[in-house]
Parts: sequence; structure tokens; C-alpha cells
Amino acid sequence: MTEHFPNAFRETEPVWVHQLPNSKYPRFPSLDHDIETDVCIIGSGIAGISAAYELITGGKRVTLLEAQHVLFGESGRTSGHLSNALDDGYIEIEKRHKPNGAKLAAESHTWAIDRVAHIIRTLDLDCEFRYVPAYRVSKFLPGDLKHEADNKKISKGADYARDAGVDAVFQKGFSVSGWDGDFSQEDAAVFAAQGAFHPTKYLLGVLEWLKAHPNFQCFADTRATGVDEGRNKVIVWTEQGYNITAKDVVEATCIPLQDSSILAEISYCRTYCIAIRVPKGSVEDCLIYDTDDPHKYVCLTACDNKNDYLIVGGCDHKVGHQDSLDRFEILATWACQRFTHAGTVDYHWSGQILEPVDHMAFIGKKEWKMHTYVITGDSGNGLTHGILAGRLVADGIEGRENSWAALYDPSRMTSAA
Ligand SMILES: Cc1cc2nc3c(=O)[nH]c(=O)nc-3n(C[C@H](O)[C@H](O)[C@H](O)COP(=O)(O)OP(=O)(O)OC[C@H]3O[C@@H](n4cnc5c(N)ncnc54)[C@H](O)[C@@H]3O)c2cc1C
Repeated sequence: MTEHFPNAFRETEPVWVHQLPNSKYPRFPSLDHDIETDVCIIGSGIAGISAAYELITGGKRVTLLEAQHVLFGESGRTSGHLSNALDDGYIEIEKRHKPNGAKLAAESHTWAIDRVAHIIRTLDLDCEFRYVPAYRVSKFLPGDLKHEADNKKISKGADYARDAGVDAVFQKGFSVSGWDGDFSQEDAAVFAAQGAFHPTKYLLGVLEWLKAHPNFQCFADTRATGVDEGRNKVIVWTEQGYNITAKDVVEATCIPLQDSSILAEISYCRTYCIAIRVPKGSVEDCLIYDTDDPHKYVCLTACDNKNDYLIVGGCDHKVGHQDSLDRFEILATWACQRFTHAGTVDYHWSGQILEPVDHMAFIGKKEWKMHTYVITGDSGNGLTHGILAGRLVADGIEGRENSWAALYDPSRMTSAA
């Protein structure tokens, strides 16, 4: 690694540990007896914790199982954008989910951003949440002929997003404050009312509230090895040899636990992030996405009294398609060429994202099951997908209609093959 990384650890760690180290995470016992509950949720990421919150507030008894420690998975390694400016774009979503899928996607992801704001207010959580704008900008420099052509696509994408119900508009001559390097930017699609937050502070805040609730229990270091749905109950088997008997089970394990046709509908990618110091106030507090394929994405989080961290992510590739490129170095160079205040990289990390063939997550009852639910297929928007999954799954279990259910139905089987 070069001069960009004087302080970065060799081991990759996400920037979120800067303010909340793993040692401060709440600890939970491992399972040492058989138990019976209303709902057993497997996996303590944003999907599992959101489902637990919605179900507990709905009056259910909930048992959360985690194979490792809480937030061990991708939710502890995310980049913290809460966005309805969906990665795959409303043009593609509209094509795949006629007639009203784009509207439902926009509505559900907007709901998820507002749901986080609501839960933060209700539980009085301190987790850096703020509404910020998002900007989609061309990867080509102004003056390049391709810049104009790219802008046409960005503008069309903003029109489709607006038709779907997102507050989006293309602004010619709009520049992001703090993007002051030689690789200049000009023109952007502007998406209002996106969210930025400290994801692990938020999730652990919700988890602390759940921990104090009499209807909630959580077991860590407890790996589920199988789920068996019978006539009136579902049994979860664990590595420890103890069972959980539940009325309903939710597999919130990021990658589904058991063989499922869903697995064939998803491709698996690795994405990379760095956190680079910038003086406080030198870069606008916003989310940025460029049009590169794979795209780069940017947001901010607090560092100390003087600095913020500019989180820069991207350079995704399919799992198993790794080449010799140093993706952390590429991200650092990209950031320094655009943000002249960018200093040293203190954190760099990577993780996995799942890309469903038709862009929407799989959330709901597993094929042929009545009481076993699955949440998977984040499509790069796994935070909002996880939050809205909590609502969808709780509505399913509590027998309420939900207008988003068909869009996310795991049995929709829209294989591109
Ligand atoms: C670098 C990076 C940046 C990202 N940035 C964004 C972003 O800005 N915005 C956005 O919306 N999305 C983003 N994503 C995607 C998002 O972070 C994920 O989609 C989301 O966190 C997944 O949440 P989850 O709860 O489904 O899974 P996870 O957080 O992975 O949780 C699953 C949990 O299940 C546990 N588990 C697995 N198997 C078992 C078992 N058999 N028994 C018990 N427990 C088990 C795991 O240990 C894990 O803790 C990003 C992802 C990465 C990697």
C-alpha cells in the first residue's frame, strides 16, 4: 500500500469501529436448552433486528439466533447509505416489474428511510442520523462528448424515479460542494431526503432496547443447522444440539440457510470501501453515486472534532472473479483526484453483496412454506431492504395485507435464464 494508507490496519476493519469498537457490542449467551417461542429469527443483521423490532412491537415473543456475535455479518461492514435512489435504477426496475413495481419499490424504500428516523425518535437513539441529498453524477469529465450522452441517461433515470414517486430532478450546472479537484464534476440528478447514519450505533441501540423487553431473547454463538416446518410448528435445529420450536421462523442470514431456488436467482459480488480523513465541513454532507460500472459511492461519517471520514466505496466484482487490481488504492486515488482535502486512509474493508436477477430482494414466505420466511438479495440496497423486510415479514406473520408483498415475493421466479 502506498502513501494513502499510513495509518490503515493491515487487517481490514470498517470505519464504524472508530466510534463503536466490537468490544462494546452487547454479549449474549449461547443456547443451552430447548425453547419454545412465537417467532425464531435466524441472523442478527439489519434484517433480523428490524424484523425483531416490528414483531416485538406487535406483541410477539421473539427469539433471535446468531451464529457468531451480533452484527457479525454485512450489516457491521456496510457504508451506511439509506437510499431510495436505488442502485439498479428505476428504468430497469420499471422494465422488470410492470405495471407498478417501480412505484412500490420507491414507496417501500422511502418508507424504510422514514422508519429509521421514526425508530430513532421513538427510542431516543444517538446514531448520527440525518436526511441528506443524494447526487448521481457522470463518470465522464465535462467537455468529454460522452459526458453529455451520460447526462441524458442520468436525466432519464431521474424522470423515471420521479414518476415512481421519488423526489428527484436533474440539475444542469449543479456541482457538489467540496468536489474541487482536477477531475471536475458538473450536472447531477438530485434525490432529496435520503438518509445517512452510523449503522452499528443504530442497530445496537435497537438491540439494547430489545434486550430489555420481556418478550425478547437472543442467543449468540448459536448456529442454526436446519429448519423443519411441520403441521403446526417449525423446528430450528442448532449446532449445540438444542431445538427451538416456533410458530414462525425467519431466515435473515443474508444468504439463505437451506437449498432454495432463490440461490439460482442471485449473483454474488464483493464490494470495497475506504474511510479517508477530510477536514470537517470541507465536503458537503451528502450521498454521491457515479455512473461507472461498477459505480463509486460516497458518504460522510464523524471522525473527531477536526475531521470527518469520507467513505468511498465501489470497485465491485463477482465473487471468484478477483484480479490483481488493488481496489483500495483505486478508491483512494479516485477520492484524492476529486476531493483535494482528502488526507489519509484510516480504514479499509470489503464485504459481499447479492444481486438478484430482477433487482429486488426476496422477502416473504419460502416456496411451498406457510410459516418459514426468508430475507435475502440485498441488491446493494440491503439496509433499506432489511428495514422494509421487517415490516413485510411482521405483516405476513400477523396476517395483514401488504401491498409490497408481490414485488418481493421469493416465489416470483423471474429467472433471466
Ligand atoms: C462494504 C459494503 C457496503 C455496503 N453499503 C451499503 C449501503 O450503503 N446501503 C445499503 O443499503 N446497503 C449497503 N450494503 C449492503 C448491506 O450492508 C447488506 O445488504 C445488509 O447489511 C445485509 O443485512 P442482513 O441482515 O440481510 O445480513 P447480515 O448483516 O449479513 O446478517 C446476517 C447474520 O446472519 C448470521 N448467520 C448466518 N448464518 C447463520 C446460521 N446458520 N445461524 C445463525 N446465524 C447465522 C450471520 O453471522 C450474520 O450476522 C453494503 C454492503 C457491503 C458489504
